[in-house]
Amino acid sequence: MNDILPEQVRRWHQLEADFRLHAELYGYAEVRTPLLEHTSLFSRQMGETTDVVEKEMYSFERHGEQLTVRPEGTASAARAYVEHSVHAKEPITRWYYLGPMFRGERPAKGRYRQFYQAGCEVLGDAGPVCDAEMLDLIAGFLRRIGVPDFTIHVNSLGSAGTRGRYRDKLLEYFTPLRDRLSEDSQRRFERNPLRILDSKDPRDQEAAKGAPSILDLLDDDDLAHWKGFLHALDVLGLPYVVDPGLVRGLDYYTRTLFEVKAVGSDLGAQSTLLGGGRYDTMIESLGGPKVPAIGFAMGLERLLTVIPEPPPRRGPGCFIAPIGAAAADRALLLARELRSFGVRVELDGRGVKLKPMLRRADALGARLCIILGDGEIERGVVTVKDLVGHAQDEIPFEGAARVLADRVSEPSPDISHARGLR
Ligand code: ATP
Ligand code: MG
Repeated sequence: MNDILPEQVRRWHQLEADFRLHAELYGYAEVRTPLLEHTSLFSRQMGETTDVVEKEMYSFERHGEQLTVRPEGTASAARAYVEHSVHAKEPITRWYYLGPMFRGERPAKGRYRQFYQAGCEVLGDAGPVCDAEMLDLIAGFLRRIGVPDFTIHVNSLGSAGTRGRYRDKLLEYFTPLRDRLSEDSQRRFERNPLRILDSKDPRDQEAAKGAPSILDLLDDDDLAHWKGFLHALDVLGLPYVVDPGLVRGLDYYTRTLFEVKAVGSDLGAQSTLLGGGRYDTMIESLGGPKVPAIGFAMGLERLLTVIPEPPPRRGPGCFIAPIGAAAADRALLLARELRSFGVRVELDGRGVKLKPMLRRADALGARLCIILGDGEIERGVVTVKDLVGHAQDEIPFEGAARVLADRVSEPSPDISHARGLR
């Protein structure tokens, strides 16, 4: 679990603002759900044999309730959708979320115990057009934030019947190889052979090389859906790789499944930036109506490692350097007035000599340094040192805030999302 210090938080703000803006372009609105849910929500929806549920959840008992700090966002969003009968209010719901998730796994670069995900869910649309549009949103977002190169991997898991048949086929295929599988895979063998395909253990990956493809087992409806999805991706000109080995770690997926991987990053096994897919049966299994759904989640830490660093933060518009007690009083009020005009101000209240104050103004990269001493008070002025243009002049104290605000009125890019700030 990481502390994120202000220098880094700036990058987070930018990324989060970009995500919100982009998701809203596609008609999504933000949903916020609690960090805690009943453990059963995740164990039932994600699947008892998944890594997350078996080993990674932070769960505890309190007042007789089994609770878990959320390891992902989809199950919570689906629960909220059912709980608030959202289906009765609108036929199609587009939600996005953004926030911390918790999984007690082994930390590595791009793998943490508290990490942040941003994700989107569409409920009420069976696709496949909406599936392709979701990838369009994703690809556009990754380009917008400057991910240099990525590949889209797609697959279809078919509907429940298809999965059942595939499970049998896989059991048949893996049975002679069983001894060569990882301990986890041997243990889960009968319950969930699909899991073997998603394993990161090299023994499982080796054994899975010749595994049958689920795409050969799709029924007519699944196949039409799959073809419609690929067609829409083609129309959108989105390049993709069909990857029949892609099953992803969770049990709730049906039909469309996808992952986006960073190309040329140093993330190693953590190069998967995001993953998602359909979960057409989840809403019903939560006690809601039959509502098809699709979603994805992406890890913000991983995105931040592959996108370029932004330019350094700009300094304040005005740095105020008062000399003496009378000046300090005036400086307090001037600072407040300047801020009311939207100017970012740093007031040096230390009561030190001019030199260290000027040094501080320089170090902060302030645009203007406002010097207020006894001489200035006598003349009814302030001295304005332009630290960028290296000029100096005096302006009347009366009305100084307005004049200074005009001088620094060029917007700072790093705070320009807060409209009206100068
Ligand atoms: P991985 O295969 O890398 O473990 P996953 O299949 O467990 O990922 P999901 O549960 O689908 O991942 O979560 C979607 C995204 O969230 C991942 O692609 C990744 O970017 C991010 N993510 C998942 N777990 C972590 C983690 N422990 N630390 C940082 N990011 C994570
Ligand atoms: Mg994982």
